[in-house]
Amino acid sequence: MAEYKGVLVCGELADGKLASITGELLGCGRKLADELKENLSCLLASGAVGEASKEAIAFGADKVYTVEHPALKEYQADSYLQVAEKLAKDVSPRVILIGQTSMGRDLAPRLAFRLGTSVTTDCLNLSIDPATKLLVQTRPVYGGNAQAVFTSESMPQTATVRAKAMSPLERDASRKGEVIPAKIDIDTSKVRTKIVETVKEEAVGIKLEDAPVIVSGGRGMGGPQPFQTILKELADLLHGAVGASRPPADNGWVSEALHIGLTGKIVAPDIYIAIAISGASQHTAGCSGSKHIIAINKDPEANIFREAEFGVVGKYEEVVPAFTSKLKELLAG
Ligand SMILES: Cc1cc2nc3c(=O)[nH]c(=O)nc-3n(C[C@H](O)[C@H](O)[C@H](O)COP(=O)(O)OP(=O)(O)OC[C@H]3O[C@@H](n4cnc5c(N)ncnc54)[C@H](O)[C@@H]3O)c2cc1C
Repeated sequence: MAEYKGVLVCGELADGKLASITGELLGCGRKLADELKENLSCLLASGAVGEASKEAIAFGADKVYTVEHPALKEYQADSYLQVAEKLAKDVSPRVILIGQTSMGRDLAPRLAFRLGTSVTTDCLNLSIDPATKLLVQTRPVYGGNAQAVFTSESMPQTATVRAKAMSPLERDASRKGEVIPAKIDIDTSKVRTKIVETVKEEAVGIKLEDAPVIVSGGRGMGGPQPFQTILKELADLLHGAVGASRPPADNGWVSEALHIGLTGKIVAPDIYIAIAISGASQHTAGCSGSKHIIAINKDPEANIFREAEFGVVGKYEEVVPAFTSKLKELLAG
């Protein structure tokens, strides 16, 4: 039987650079590898990996396996899977970490199946049980209303990790590691899909996922206009971004890209201001990782007040402009 050792991160590149999720996985993977007293490796597979391999070392990897091939220029399950499967079989890690991203959601179950193991998706916390060396995996269940803790005895123990759930290490360019170009052939005849075109949504201002402050509006905003005026003014003042619950996106008041929750984006800003949002579990599943939640709602019984650290009961039409004007005064003084 193969000896399983170490932690392997399946990395991602974004615009030719190490994606932020990969930094977060490396931060978490470093902690797990140290607890196990084993190595942390990272797979970077792309058309060209470039400086990202050095970055992966600066963020905690001991070894970076690079695979460069034209078929890896953009993520496609049929090509990436061949690489990840071969490397996982060669390296035989105890733990595999994958981002809960559009790529990771697609890759993880396929890879787990090929390796004959299980996968726990959307983990918020991971640790090692010192007695068994098993990976202790915490993930939300029942639409975010509870958290469950899992372990799995099938190897390699594979988990996907939610973006922003883990912190990257401080970048340390003096950290030493090994870059290993892995010789893995890709059978392009097995790649059944072709990317015809990639259309990038034009992002205006700060991206929701990167914003330290999110000013989010719900159905109670009543229409598209307050998103472009009242909420935008507050978000700009706080150097943040505007977000929304699902109904404003479904109604076409805001772009689908602003939709936060179980079926939308998962965010974890420093401050999340939920305005005229009732606080359904499917919404809070996407924002409960925020450091501080502030709620503004006219209904004192709204569920969002159970999630929020601070709350104001009142109509947003009155509360938000007053809040914005006080904030302007404080920032000016
Ligand atoms: C499978 C599934 C997946 C889902 N995924 C998501 C998801 O990803 N994200 C998501 O958000 N939802 C999702 N939902 C929908 C979710 O269940 C709720 O219906 C939705 O979150 C409600 O949005 P809301 O809070 O904006 O609207 P409502 O629940 O209608 O709440 C509006 C709130 O605004 C307040 N209000 C009204 N007027 C004012 C005012 N003038 N000033 C202040 N407050 C005011 C009201 O008191 C109320 O609390 C999903 C549902 C299902 C079944």
